[in-house]
Amino acid sequence: NSSLHELDPDVAAAVDAELHRQQSTLEMIASENFAPVAVMEAQGSVLTNKYAEGYPGRRYYGGCEHVDVVEQIAIDRVKALFGAEHANVQPHSGAQANAAAMFALLSPGDTILGLNLAHGGHLTHGMKINFSGKLYNVVPYHVDAETGLVDMDEVERLAKEHRPKLVIAGWSAYPRQLDFAAFRRIADEVGAYLMVDMAHFAGLVAAGLHPSPVPHAHVVTTTTHKTLGGPRGGVILSTAELAKKINSAVFPGQQGGPLEHVVAAKAVAFKIAAGEEFKERQQRTLEGARLLAERLTQPDVAKAGVSVLSGGTEVHLVLVDLRDSELDGRQAEDRLHEIGITVNRNAIPNDPRPPMVTSGLRIGTPALATRGFTADDFREVADIIAAALQPSYDAEGLKARVTALADKHPLYPDLKK
Ligand code: PLP
Repeated sequence: NSSLHELDPDVAAAVDAELHRQQSTLEMIASENFAPVAVMEAQGSVLTNKYAEGYPGRRYYGGCEHVDVVEQIAIDRVKALFGAEHANVQPHSGAQANAAAMFALLSPGDTILGLNLAHGGHLTHGMKINFSGKLYNVVPYHVDAETGLVDMDEVERLAKEHRPKLVIAGWSAYPRQLDFAAFRRIADEVGAYLMVDMAHFAGLVAAGLHPSPVPHAHVVTTTTHKTLGGPRGGVILSTAELAKKINSAVFPGQQGGPLEHVVAAKAVAFKIAAGEEFKERQQRTLEGARLLAERLTQPDVAKAGVSVLSGGTEVHLVLVDLRDSELDGRQAEDRLHEIGITVNRNAIPNDPRPPMVTSGLRIGTPALATRGFTADDFREVADIIAAALQPSYDAEGLKARVTALADKHPLYPDLKK
């Protein structure tokens, strides 16, 4: 029963170094967040030892009386949080949630309509070498080249032409809200199911700061670790009518034993997400993204050939367009990394540069909002980024400003060794 440090100093050292990295830099990867200590405590609990194939009250293993309680709490909380008729909290990840949802609704060879990966969709929405692209006949839709917005006329035209069995609405890199009612109308017109993947914006929905897809979609999938701020994992919400299909698609269709320690951590995250503090945090998340977009559309930034896709944001992220900049996505990512800001380069629609290089950056505010950043702090972050994307920049000076912000908002102070 040795501690991690005693038993395995190599792994312990890497974990410590990662803690230091998170504490000393500014995390702006839009899909990341900082899980509360209570969430990590649940995830690191003895529930990791338990097999519990099946569902609460209907398990294939003995000794499930306590994990039944935990899983039922998670189910009840997430249903209440999003106003859903049914919830399955067992998917190990967002990709597993999508795989199971599609497994429930489709047969191999069926047609699906999803947002193209290079236009902001996710791998599981029909990328060629993903399971979704291999198992199903994918018809991709796109964003409009001028506006940067999903082209709903194209969605409707493609739906009528290809008559998909499933329409997927949702994104990994898109700075605007989707019109779920319009997606549902189109799905209904062709007799398709509508699945909304709200992985990115679920936290905003939970806080009531983004329209909810739940009243419109047959199925809603999400991750629990992005804006929602919980453990890494997935959830499927659905109508009561689809409950049985969804459950059997997750287990035994796609997965074996659920990760009850993660389910416990999800339950804790759902409790937090129902509170006022969480709402206030999501408000700062949105405000931070808005301030960033505002700063990155000022004349000094435009002069450097840098702009913002769609001209702004309605969510927790900004997509930076570097097509006219002398910096490509990789160089810009490296530059920000050098001064202590972590972001990811991102292909933008009709990107002239190859996928490993790209002409874009995706910059998100959820993790910094969790860290306590205020509007003034986000203004300072935005100004640092604006300066770093200029042709010449003062790396040392910018790094010092980043360090000052990190020091102002200590992260996991009690975990410091
Ligand atoms: N769906 C969307 C929209 C995502 O952005 C992601 C992750 O980036 C996923 C699903 C997959 O989640 P995971 O990485 O947990 O499999």
